[in-house]
Amino acid sequence: MAGPLRVAVIGAGWAGLAAAVRATQAGHAVTVFETAGMPGGRARSDDGSDAATDNGQHILLGGYARTLALMRDVGVDVDRALLRVPLRVTYADDTGFALSPRGLRLVAAANALIGARGFGLVDKLSAVAMSLHWMLRSFRCDPTLTVDALLRDAPTARVHRRLIEPLCVAALNTPSAEASAEVFLAVMRDSLFGARDASDLLLPQRPLAQLLPLPALAWLRAHGATLHLRRRVASIEAAGAAWRIAASAEAGDLRNPDGPFDQVVLATPAPEAARLTQALAPAWAACAAALAHEPIVTVTLNSPRRRWAAPMLALDSDLDARPAQFAFKLGEQPARSDRATLVVSAAGPWLVRGSDVVAAAIVGQYRAAFGIGADEAVDVVSVRADKRATFRCTAGVVRPPRDILPGLRAAADYVAGPYPATLEGAVLAGEAAAIAVGIQSEIAR
Ligand SMILES: Cc1cc2nc3c(=O)[nH]c(=O)nc-3n(C[C@H](O)[C@H](O)[C@H](O)COP(=O)(O)OP(=O)(O)OC[C@H]3O[C@@H](n4cnc5c(N)ncnc54)[C@H](O)[C@@H]3O)c2cc1C
Repeated sequence: MAGPLRVAVIGAGWAGLAAAVRATQAGHAVTVFETAGMPGGRARSDDGSDAATDNGQHILLGGYARTLALMRDVGVDVDRALLRVPLRVTYADDTGFALSPRGLRLVAAANALIGARGFGLVDKLSAVAMSLHWMLRSFRCDPTLTVDALLRDAPTARVHRRLIEPLCVAALNTPSAEASAEVFLAVMRDSLFGARDASDLLLPQRPLAQLLPLPALAWLRAHGATLHLRRRVASIEAAGAAWRIAASAEAGDLRNPDGPFDQVVLATPAPEAARLTQALAPAWAACAAALAHEPIVTVTLNSPRRRWAAPMLALDSDLDARPAQFAFKLGEQPARSDRATLVVSAAGPWLVRGSDVVAAAIVGQYRAAFGIGADEAVDVVSVRADKRATFRCTAGVVRPPRDILPGLRAAADYVAGPYPATLEGAVLAGEAAAIAVGIQSEIAR
């Protein structure tokens, strides 16, 4: 009988960590290679301390079932690490939609939409009609449709601007004029119209490193996995039916190739996956390389205290003077109680003007939204711009499949799947790759 497989996981973001934990649980001998000194990839913190800064504000949803299960499996107390609040698209002036429907889906969704504050009856009825329309079509549509094209005849302009656009840009990091309606509907189906509590917001109460990356690393270490941090994989070579991996240490010295490995899980971002597979699988590499990316800018402010109706508030945004779509107040984190974090998704048009311009515009936007006069100080604590935050989830976008070659598969948020680039999408992709390793292992027996 064949023994456990030797599995290399390249990249210790949330996808790679998911693949490594699940493959280790299945009894395989796992080796992880990660370029950075800290695991977590795009959802990482600068260090492991309670005061660490994250690479941008992240929120999870109640429907992130696989991510929450993985966090629990590596020993995270999910209820303490995440603050659960009902999803509301509430604006600073207290208008908005409360969107965590309970009970019967359509009735509850209709109730939630009709109970919106600051919207007229026509707006509310148009939102209900839109929901009914989606449900009757089982949340399916032509994959080449954009969100705007899907909503051509409904709802009202106000519902579109103050509900659909913020939800779309937050979930897909792509403006509704270009965003994939198919993926948007999948997100709506599994969150707002999904299982009870699926649409709840789960707001991190700890730095991201403590939510999964560091606990997963400790779990892997304790369960016998080999971990190589600060080891960038330079190349993957086929060695008969197996694989060898050449990785360099931080100083740049190329080590003798590691391996052989029976299976490789490639959990890097798409451009790096394309580079590593160019010679092995040119068509797959070309598909990965063709994905376009979209930035997210996160600006943290120190600001005078104001009453916030919810820890996450929507902001009216535009391309002239108001970059941010959402503001977060993480009052539960004592070290940050005076801090507000503002997020600019689909930030490409803003970032070309420069980070300083974005930050200055955000301070102005924040003052106007919260009625803070010129006599009160609003200081910029940090500006983080991630130029390749996610792939652009446009209508008809072709995402590369999971399987690259026998024994070589991709696991990351851009791999073909129902969801946009999210933590849950990354974890699902990592787990799918680990399951595929298991199936190959069964065949080998
Ligand atoms: C600012 C920002 C805000 C976001 N907000 C949210 C949110 O609110 N909710 C949500 O669900 N998602 C959010 N996302 C998206 C989410 O962070 C990503 O979808 C997810 O982290 C992707 O995980 P991944 O494992 O697929 O890839 P990555 O996180 O990119 O991990 C890839 C890893 O591979 C490593 N690597 C690369 N090349 C090599 C190599 N040659 N050798 C070894 N290692 C290598 C990298 O260092 C990295 O650690 C946000 C992203 C950003 C940037």
